[in-house]
Amino acid sequence: MALGLDHASRRPEGMTDRALNLVLVSTPVGQLGSGRGGGVELTLASLVKGLVQRGHRLHLVAPEGSCSPVADGRVTLHPVPGVDQPSWQHADRNAPMQIPGNAVLPRLWDHALDLASDVDALINFGYDWLPLWLTRHVDARIFHLVSMGSVSAVMDQAVADLARWDQRRLAFHTRRQADDFALVEPPEVVGNGFDLSRYDLQLSMDGPLGWAGRVAPEKGLEDAAAVAALLGERLRVWGLVEDHDYAKRVESAVPAGTIEWCGFKPTAELQRELGGCRALLNTPKWNEAYGNVVVEALACGVPVIAYDRGGPGEIIQDGETGWLVPPDDREALAEATVRVAAIDRQACRRWVERCASQEGLAARVEAWIRRGLTPADGTIS
Ligand code: UDP
Repeated sequence: MALGLDHASRRPEGMTDRALNLVLVSTPVGQLGSGRGGGVELTLASLVKGLVQRGHRLHLVAPEGSCSPVADGRVTLHPVPGVDQPSWQHADRNAPMQIPGNAVLPRLWDHALDLASDVDALINFGYDWLPLWLTRHVDARIFHLVSMGSVSAVMDQAVADLARWDQRRLAFHTRRQADDFALVEPPEVVGNGFDLSRYDLQLSMDGPLGWAGRVAPEKGLEDAAAVAALLGERLRVWGLVEDHDYAKRVESAVPAGTIEWCGFKPTAELQRELGGCRALLNTPKWNEAYGNVVVEALACGVPVIAYDRGGPGEIIQDGETGWLVPPDDREALAEATVRVAAIDRQACRRWVERCASQEGLAARVEAWIRRGLTPADGTIS
């Protein structure tokens, strides 16, 4: 499917092309560049670059130690000190909202709201209750690019409450992600976007199998490892090891040498090494909101064999850019991996150029914000 493409060109009546002043508020889970923020870090970097290219002025409010994705006079970085927020995906579904002492989260919002009177809108990239709740109680126009599906009852409620108040303030990466929430209107789906100049198409079809992502249970590395073992192959693994006990368990369940740990690499190296793979295996155990690594692999021409679940199930075009198999079916995954040569690597790259470019994302996000800034007329676009 053409994820969100149609949104780029839709403009509400009377919309002007005046450049916007925006505050982008980063995730409170880690500094930009640390890898702890997961896919949000790359999404934010793409959007900063894409919005600057479109002539907008940006304030980037982010935890101290973050690097700005671009050196450009139109982007001002505001580093904010404080303790990281615990990540929701590792909390119990019914856990309460927590705010640690000296937390960075309320400080990010103190800072962002101080800038609010001089800007058109604030965009939140963190998956947190506080900014969702704040939105209904301040004059500042706060928008939220929701980065995960449902993982917490408190967050489900906060998203549903905001949707009832004004759903135009919410956007999602995929329809499958948005389906997790109690919305009142069809969701705003913006997909995601990548700086394609940073990814090289590689056409060789005889490389190893690859897997990329945070090494944590919701990512299902054990299934990809089992498939590699079944096929008697090596699996190259890139990403931040978030859960070391889990990583050890995965490794000990397959023959020694099956997994080759490649570590967390910056994009330039990741794409070079990933691009040498014959296929990427993607095995989410949760309703993955999008799945950046899937699109990064496709951008390098690497077909993706994945469970038909969450964002990857919506992104991958079965038979064109990879194969989708029933969730948790390791045998089907192995069988599809054997058929990977039927996928044209150039078609993988073409899909990303068409549906997931940095420019396209920035255009879709701009259109979403402009629609949300027009006075409500009783309908939601
Ligand atoms: N990543 C990286 N280097 C690595 C492995 C992964 O920079 O060696 C990045 C990758 O570019 C992607 C992110 O980690 O942006 C993982 O995001 P994804 O959406 O796949 O999953 P999330 O961690 O957000 O659940």
